[in-house]
Amino acid sequence: MWNFSFICPTLLILFILLIFYFSLPRLGIRQNKVFLKIIIIETLVVISDIVSSVLDNNYQEHPLVLVSVANMLFFVFFMLRAYVLFKFVISVLHIYPRKFPAIKYFVRLPLYLSLVVTAFSPFTGMIYIVNETGYHAGPFYNVTYFCSFFYLGMAFLSFFIKRDVLVRKRELFSLLFYNVIIGAGLIFRILLPNYLLMDTFCLMAILLVYLSFENPEFYLDLRSTAFNRKALTDFLDERAGNQWKNYICLIIHDYSEMRAIYGSTQMDDALHMISDYLNQMFPKSHIFYFSRGRFVILTDSRINKEEACEKIADKFESSWKSELSEVYLNADYVIFSNKENKLSAEVIEGTITTALDRADFINDRRPLYIGAEDIEETKKQLEIERCFEHAIENGKIEAFLQPIIDAESGRIIGAEALARLRDEEGNVIPPHMFIPIAESTGRVHELGVQVFEKACEFIKKSGPEMKGLSWINVNLSPIQMLQADLAEQLESIANKHGVDTELIHLEITEESTIDDYSMQHQIKALKDKGFVLVLDDYGTGYSNLARLKKIPFTTVKLDMDIVLDYYHNPDEVLPMMIKTFKQLGFKITAEGIENEHMSLVLAELGCDYFQGFYYSMPIPMHEFSEKYLKPA
Ligand code: C2E
Ligand code: MG
Ligand code: MG
Repeated sequence: MWNFSFICPTLLILFILLIFYFSLPRLGIRQNKVFLKIIIIETLVVISDIVSSVLDNNYQEHPLVLVSVANMLFFVFFMLRAYVLFKFVISVLHIYPRKFPAIKYFVRLPLYLSLVVTAFSPFTGMIYIVNETGYHAGPFYNVTYFCSFFYLGMAFLSFFIKRDVLVRKRELFSLLFYNVIIGAGLIFRILLPNYLLMDTFCLMAILLVYLSFENPEFYLDLRSTAFNRKALTDFLDERAGNQWKNYICLIIHDYSEMRAIYGSTQMDDALHMISDYLNQMFPKSHIFYFSRGRFVILTDSRINKEEACEKIADKFESSWKSELSEVYLNADYVIFSNKENKLSAEVIEGTITTALDRADFINDRRPLYIGAEDIEETKKQLEIERCFEHAIENGKIEAFLQPIIDAESGRIIGAEALARLRDEEGNVIPPHMFIPIAESTGRVHELGVQVFEKACEFIKKSGPEMKGLSWINVNLSPIQMLQADLAEQLESIANKHGVDTELIHLEITEESTIDDYSMQHQIKALKDKGFVLVLDDYGTGYSNLARLKKIPFTTVKLDMDIVLDYYHNPDEVLPMMIKTFKQLGFKITAEGIENEHMSLVLAELGCDYFQGFYYSMPIPMHEFSEKYLKPA
């Protein structure tokens, strides 16, 4: 009666999947646990389907009770499968029914009812009947379909309500097709019941989600074989409120330098050995490799963290040796007890990263402890990141102006536009707190463009003569200088506002001049568009006069550190530098002038312009106009 052409290969493929799945470490998060249930239940369904079908086909040769129980087990697993297939969808979509007990019980009710009806079926004959004439469907056979279609319907509903959770298109389509395939399996089961096709369709759906969500390698760092950063984030996001509250973190000291010295192959091998060692030492803990030489060990309270650090440090005294490599490394440690367990993954990861960087800097065998103030610091930093993102998205980056004074006349000749950000209360956040964020998130160009745009608006508003100002300086980040169409973009903004590009002086730091070829190209493009170039922060980088000579700067701005240094300990170096620059035809601006005496000393040396708190702090544009610009 039953045909086994599809179900036997299905079982064989399922075995291969099981072997692959169980051969790698798996992360104990909800979604993975549900997937584990799915493959176990699918195996049970397939096996019980084969067994009960064989018994049905040969019912005369077996006790009827055995045939009946085998069928009952099959139906039980069949309905459980429908439920766990649905649970996988809600776990991927981060839907937590436990937060709404009424919904939770409503959703489970069809399963419970179907299970009860099925369990009693050998006595009542409601779902199926096994008698002297063999196996037959019972009067309530459709309960099995009701259960399956109910959970499929719930899965589709959940998908359409919460599909925005899935950011990647591949994941979105996989989850949709997963449900479509299960639906197709049900239809085939109705149309061709004898072919036992439903299990094959379910296996197809399972393979699809295995490939898109559940391959354990997605959560493994392939170099170290520990869990990766994504695993840590998902684990922390989900585990709030349970026993994993203790963190032992370590960072390989001077990781980048060590990688450069030993090379990638040896370092990867060492990471592998460290990871194996940590796994052996903390068999009941979770080991994560947190990128760039950082490991995080999540343990429960039974482990003495200080002793554990001591032990690891002892191990690091000797080399990490294998057939491929021998590497001597040093490590620094951080300990954290997340007692309240209410912190988000973002805060924990940020705090750990900062603390590990500090430990790496201090380089002491003793561990650093993360305290409440470190967490507060991370929260503040994250808040700034959010403010920055918001300001960038909404064009809310402000530009303050700081006057630049002509040394000879003592009058304001220009101004530097300096980026400012405001927090939610309106307090000003200085650039050193958000420019690194802009650089690390790839948004420094957007920031620069907003400041540039505001500088153009200011020039436009001030009228053709700019009421006495000769130019406005705008800073360019070295990252912006790598942007191929920078000159065209800036020119088109200036044109949009009807601003002559010669009124804008672009400040470039020495860092920008390192890559000779692209820089020459960029600088020529900017010059061709009419912009004037200024070398900013001279004296902070490694200066190469021969190279600077080739770049058509108009002005060199001496960094305030060398200005201050000279002011407190005068020597021959700064005067000689200034002399050389003047011979090369550069104008000189001295930054960081904080008192009158400083201005006199630097005027003596031949500086042309001054900028500093002695004259004015950077102030909002409207304030600058009111205070310094001549009325039209
Ligand atoms: P910078 O371009 O060298 O700007 C001068 C910095 O020195 C400003 O700091 C200014 O407030 C500060 N300063 C001026 N006079 C004095 C003084 O007398 N004493 C002291 N102690 N400081 C003085 P600010 O505004 O915090 O900017 C810091 C840096 O952030 C800037 O250094 C610049 O490198 C960067 N930055 C600011 N705005 C932008 C921007 O729009 N784009 C880019 N890429 N970088 C920017
Ligand atoms: Mg500057
Ligand atoms: Mg500067």
